[in-house]
Amino acid sequence: MLNLAHIKHCAAEVGFDLCGVTRCQNLASESSFLESWIAAGYNSTLGYLERNIDKRSDAKLLVAGAKSVIVCGVAYKNRFSEGYSEGCNQKIASYALTTDYHITIKEMLRRLCARLKEECPSLSGRVFTDSAPIFEKRYAVEAGLGWIGRQSLLVTPQFGTFVLLGVAILTEECDSYDTPLQGVGCGECRRCIEACPNGAIIERHIDTRLCISRATIEGEEELEAPLPRHGWIFGCDSCQSCCPYNRRAPMGTNPLFAPLFDPTQIDWQKMSEAEFTLRFAQTPLFRTTIERVKQ
Ligand code: SF4
Ligand code: SF4
Repeated sequence: MLNLAHIKHCAAEVGFDLCGVTRCQNLASESSFLESWIAAGYNSTLGYLERNIDKRSDAKLLVAGAKSVIVCGVAYKNRFSEGYSEGCNQKIASYALTTDYHITIKEMLRRLCARLKEECPSLSGRVFTDSAPIFEKRYAVEAGLGWIGRQSLLVTPQFGTFVLLGVAILTEECDSYDTPLQGVGCGECRRCIEACPNGAIIERHIDTRLCISRATIEGEEELEAPLPRHGWIFGCDSCQSCCPYNRRAPMGTNPLFAPLFDPTQIDWQKMSEAEFTLRFAQTPLFRTTIERVKQ
């Protein structure tokens, strides 16, 4: 049996700013929504979202005997999260300026599970960071970390949306579980909808055909006309920088998530593929190519 307070203590020890635990539960309603969203064509070039929908709604298909889901988050707000200067055309989403969170967070989750296993030797399970078909944000809501904002991201009361998530699906029960937050939410605010330069946000979901983040990261070679990018060369923070919860959020304090470079000071147009690989292979930028960055 896991202990809720002990899990949170260990999560903080390995460097997480947020941690919540929820029961492993069937999320069939999320799957239904995803299917209708895909049917409307909103997933654009994100074909991978069409696969493994059954696993998304039932974590037991990913981890046999799964009982508990731990959702952890690292707050990473940095000086670039607040926006770039007017007219800047070398903007990169602020999460991408550091070591790839797939690497960092997965390692932190492994350390967390190793600590929990010391107290609970029968524990088994798997850890995920945006690396498997999981409704991470929905689990985060169930685990009391925040709510889904109008731009479809998890909003946390303490750190806004500038939070990177990791999930551990485990086979042990916990002695108690967190519950969704009550009495918080977006209220009448619509700033993210108004801030999206391409009008991609439709009340709590995104038309990724119009989303700069999707276009710059996943490519749009197969689309008829390239999207206006409004100065973004990788990702886009426009629907986050404007959020009042982000404006009052503190800067991230975990040094593993501090920016490694200033994108406005790099001559991207002169960069070769070899240099791009050398400098950015360990960052999220490596999900794209230097050719896409130069477009
Ligand atoms: S990431 Fe940018 S383009 Fe995509 S929905 Fe947000 S503001 Fe719009
Ligand atoms: S900008 Fe406003 S509507 Fe959008 S997520 Fe933040 S609080 Fe919610």
